[in-house]
Amino acid sequence: MATPTEHATCSASASSRWLNCTAAPRFEENFPEETSTYAEEGRLAHSICEISAQYVFNVISKRAKNSRIKKLQSDPSYDDEMLKTAEFYAQYLWEKAMSFPGKPYAVQEVRVDFSDYVPDGFGTCDCVMIGGDLLHITDYKHGKGVEVSAENNSQMRLYALGALKRYGPMFSVKRVSMSIVQPRITENVSEESLTVDELLAWGEQIKPIALKAYSGMGEFKTGPWCRFCRGKAQCKARAENYTALEDFKDFLIEGQMGGMEKVGYAVAQSSGEQVPGVLSDADVGEMLTRAAGLVDWYNDLKEYALNAILSGKTIPGYKVVAGRSIRAFADADKALETIKAAGWDEAMLYERKPKSLAELEKLIGKKDFADLMGDQIVRPVGKPTLVDAGDKREPYSSAAADFAGATQ
Ligand code: SF4
Repeated sequence: MATPTEHATCSASASSRWLNCTAAPRFEENFPEETSTYAEEGRLAHSICEISAQYVFNVISKRAKNSRIKKLQSDPSYDDEMLKTAEFYAQYLWEKAMSFPGKPYAVQEVRVDFSDYVPDGFGTCDCVMIGGDLLHITDYKHGKGVEVSAENNSQMRLYALGALKRYGPMFSVKRVSMSIVQPRITENVSEESLTVDELLAWGEQIKPIALKAYSGMGEFKTGPWCRFCRGKAQCKARAENYTALEDFKDFLIEGQMGGMEKVGYAVAQSSGEQVPGVLSDADVGEMLTRAAGLVDWYNDLKEYALNAILSGKTIPGYKVVAGRSIRAFADADKALETIKAAGWDEAMLYERKPKSLAELEKLIGKKDFADLMGDQIVRPVGKPTLVDAGDKREPYSSAAADFAGATQ
C-alpha cells in the first residue's frame, strides 16, 4: 500500500475529531507531524495486506507475492504476526467477493476524492468491490489499542463518498456497505450498510461542518477525540476544561472542615437530603463526566514538559532527572557461569515458567488455538469497573459473578 506523502487538511482519518472540534485542523498545523513505531508497523502491515489481497484476486502470482513479502521482512518494523493478519484480511476479502451474486469488480489501494463534501478532501480506500447495485469498501486497521466500529464511522463514510464519486458513473450503485477488519483485536468484522441516498444525505449534513473546520473559523470542543490531536498537550481549550473544575468550589463550605462536614455527611446518609458541603450523587456524576480524561491530559502535559526541557526549554517549577534504575548483570551468561563455578546447583538458578494464554495463542494461531483449547478456557467475570452509562457492556451483576465463580 502506498505510503501517504501528502495530507488533507480535513482528512478522513481525523474526521471524528474535526467533526466535533472544528478548530482542530488549523490548530494542529502549529505542531509538527511525528511518526511513531505504531505508524511504521501499520504502514508495513498494510503493504503486506495489499500484496496478500492482490494474490487472492489473482493480480500477482504466488512467486511474486513471496518475493515482495520477503523484501518487506527486512524492515525493522516487521513481525511474523503481520503474515497472519494479512492472511485474515485477504481471506475476508475473498469471502466478501464470493457473497456477491456474480464476480465483483475488485480493486486495491484506490485514491478517492471526497472534496464535494470536504474541501480538498481525499484519501485511500484499502479495497473497493462493486457488483450488482452494491459498492463495498474495506479498511484494514492494524492497531490493537481501540476497537473501531464501522457503524456511524465518518472515515468510512467519507471514503465511500469518494468511491461513489469515482465509480458511480460507471456502475448503477444503489447500496453501499463498509467494513473494518481489525484482526489483532477481533475476528468479527464490523460492517455498516446504507443506501446511496442515505450516504449522500449524510454527506450534505457534514458539508457545512467541514467548511467551518477547513476555513479556520471553527470552534474548540474537547472530548475523547482530543486523544490523537497533535496539539493536545498545549491546547488551552483542553486545559480550561480541566482547570474549570474549580467551578465546583461552590459545592464546598469554605473554611468548614472536619466536624461540620462529618455532621453533614451523616445527615445526608440517613435522610438522603442535600446537605451544604456534601456532594450529592448527581454532583458526583457531573464531576466524573467533567473529569473524564483528566489523567490522560495530565500525562500529555508531563510528556510535553519532559520533551521541552530535554530540548533546552524551561518549564517553571520542573526539571528532568535520571529515573530510578535497576541493577543488572553486565553479562548474564557470564554471571550465571560464575555462580555455578562457585558450587551452586544449576537447577536453583533458573525457573521454568509457562507462556501466558495470549502468548500461546499467538504462537499457535487464533483458529488452531480455539480448536485445540476451546473447552479449556474460562473467562471469569471481571472486577466491578465504573464506566459511563453509554458503555455497551451489560451492567455488572454480583449474582452472575458469584455463579461464574461457583462453576469454575
Ligand atoms: S486538543 Fe481537543 S479541543 Fe484542542 S484542538 Fe485538539 S481536538 Fe480540539
